[in-house]
Amino acid sequence: MKGSYITKSESGMLIIPDDPVIPYIEGDGVGRDIWPASRMVFDEAVQAAYGKKRKIVWKEILAGEKATLKTGTPLPDETLETIAHCHIAIKGPLTTPVGTGFRSLNVTLRKHFDLYTCIRPVRYFEGVVSPVKNPEKLDVVIFRENVEDVYAGLEWPQGSKEARHLIGVLKESFAWQIPVDAGIGIKFISEGNTRRFVRRAFDYTLSHGRKSVTFVHKGNIMKYTEGAFREWAYQVAKEDYGKVIVMENDLQGNAPPEDKIVVKDRIADAMFQMILLRPDEFDVLVLPNLNGDYLSDACAAQVGGIGMAPGANIGDEVAIFEATHGSAPKYAGLDKVNPSSLILSGAMMFDFMGWKEAATLIEKGVETAIKRGRITYDLARFRPDSTEVSCSAFAREVVKNL
Ligand code: NAP
Repeated sequence: MKGSYITKSESGMLIIPDDPVIPYIEGDGVGRDIWPASRMVFDEAVQAAYGKKRKIVWKEILAGEKATLKTGTPLPDETLETIAHCHIAIKGPLTTPVGTGFRSLNVTLRKHFDLYTCIRPVRYFEGVVSPVKNPEKLDVVIFRENVEDVYAGLEWPQGSKEARHLIGVLKESFAWQIPVDAGIGIKFISEGNTRRFVRRAFDYTLSHGRKSVTFVHKGNIMKYTEGAFREWAYQVAKEDYGKVIVMENDLQGNAPPEDKIVVKDRIADAMFQMILLRPDEFDVLVLPNLNGDYLSDACAAQVGGIGMAPGANIGDEVAIFEATHGSAPKYAGLDKVNPSSLILSGAMMFDFMGWKEAATLIEKGVETAIKRGRITYDLARFRPDSTEVSCSAFAREVVKNL
């Protein structure tokens, strides 16, 4: 089957045909296990939701180890061109060497396509053993800024010509004393990027019936980056969403009106304890890049589902959905790991495409499969009443429960 391409209308809306071509990157390490398992779930969910009316036409594109092996480069131009042409793609994890070697392919993709918004919903699935007493109280959607901050990869190694030059300039111009044996990284957060990112978070909050938005920042210390992020975020809230929001401070402890979104902010370090102690006070969380990364994993751990958290990276032209865990090389090819992170990322993709029925079926399928207790090793090891099954067998359980 050839399939049709997703296009954009003049107003910038995606037009999704009934047989869209969607490119996928299988991913390194356990990608070879979780991709085929997830793809089976996606195809079955579309079939269950729409019968013969709709079908995804998958197109493999190369990145990571497979790309290096076949083309000599980890991220071939053809991969980038295909993603640009198709607007939506899905990927497994890609390995990044630590400290040396090439830059993260994930960061490269985010920068290349200007995927400035990372969305990570985190909620509890009944039957997953969690380290906290009431994991079901956590149900948040984390909006992590995705292309700026100290995470953007603008850095120079210790002793390099560039690091020494920068240290010299900073000393000469501002009398800043930075040790000459320091590595240097740049933290930057811009107004324009923050504004468009925060707008995405509010649009999502409205379209998904969420109740509050919390800006999380370290603006008390990093005043002109994280502090400014908070200021610009509040400005967007007031200027663009004034009619549908209420500020937490204006409530003075009273319950908010049913039809209003509560807007508040918290300092990042305090947030890590609040989300653990009073998780039900939070809904949509909006953070700069690095703290967004940390808080996503902390929240995922709280519901016991670090191997289950899905993610989306979204820009104005392209959206890439991905498993949030890494390539877990020691499990590669063993048909062992939990495919839920990629499966649920696929559900997010269907939701984004407007194929809500398929998205809901997948979520329900995963939920029921876990509840019934035929689960992968990572979940089974904490649940004596369960049966451990392989990655592919778990995907078949999900399909049975669609
Ligand atoms: P990782 O691959 O996420 O694995 C760390 C541990 O998490 C695993 O040993 C396993 O824990 C658990 N885990 C991960 N995925 C799982 C799954 N699907 N099911 C069950 N358990 C799972 O992290 P890493 O070892 O730090 O990173 C390996 C490589 O992946 C690195 O090169 C890193 O850069 C890359 N990475 C890529 C992405 C991405 O592509 N988006 C994200 C993060 C990391 P146990 O052994 O304790 O069971």
